[in-house]
Amino acid sequence: MPELPEVETALRGVSPYLKGFMIEKIVVRQPQLRWAVSPELVALEKINILKLTRRAKYLIIHTDQGYIIGHLGMSGSVRIVPHDSPIDKHDHIDIVMNNGKLLRYNDPRRFGAWLWTKNLEEFHLFLKLGPEPLSDEFNAEYLFKKSRKKLTALKTFLMDNAVVVGIGNIYANETLFLCGLHPLKLATNLTRKQCELIVTTIKNVLSKAIEQGGTTLKDFLQPDGRPGYFAQELLVYGNKNKPCPKCGTKIESLIIGQRNSYICPHCQKKR
Ligand SMILES: [Zn+2]
Repeated sequence: MPELPEVETALRGVSPYLKGFMIEKIVVRQPQLRWAVSPELVALEKINILKLTRRAKYLIIHTDQGYIIGHLGMSGSVRIVPHDSPIDKHDHIDIVMNNGKLLRYNDPRRFGAWLWTKNLEEFHLFLKLGPEPLSDEFNAEYLFKKSRKKLTALKTFLMDNAVVVGIGNIYANETLFLCGLHPLKLATNLTRKQCELIVTTIKNVLSKAIEQGGTTLKDFLQPDGRPGYFAQELLVYGNKNKPCPKCGTKIESLIIGQRNSYICPHCQKKR
């Protein structure tokens, strides 16, 4: 599943081919995604793209008439191809530009979304989102206050979009391992110092992943190449029974909130 660094990488990869250009039309071959594609999108033509931004894992294409909002779901990807590029059966949407290129959305499992809004501030999916993890708003004081009286598992707490956006399963596991914190520790028991450590670690882990993603930018121009959910070196995620990189103890897995969690039982205590 694309996580925040992949979405940020996608944004950076496709932006130069969209920003400042005009959309000639939008071709929707399959409107049944996670939610039906906004019918307004199909009717759009000759509108100018001002810029692209990201909120949580949503791509936002700012135009002079409103906002196109895209989400890659579980298996979606975007790439830039020439107008006459052959179509794959999972290529559901083309945003056709006036520069000979188009943005093509491919999604085998169809859990993604492509929506339209005229008012970004009141867009329903954004209303309850917490701060961006890489923003100054996400700091130790904020996390400490937010975690008071929260009797939820720390991992579940960090993956809650109302607390902070864009911390998926992989990065929650990696962060907690690096912090030496057990995923089942109750959020309310976090100390100020632990909040500081978590915030710093999340920012480092995500920045590093985005930096690594930078090397895949050219993939967004390969018609056949699926721009990667880049393979990263992960410390604990997916490494059950392998030795902990810090102490050599076997990594264990457990299910928390229906998601796989990976811990080193020696390095991550519930203290
Ligand atoms: Zn260990």
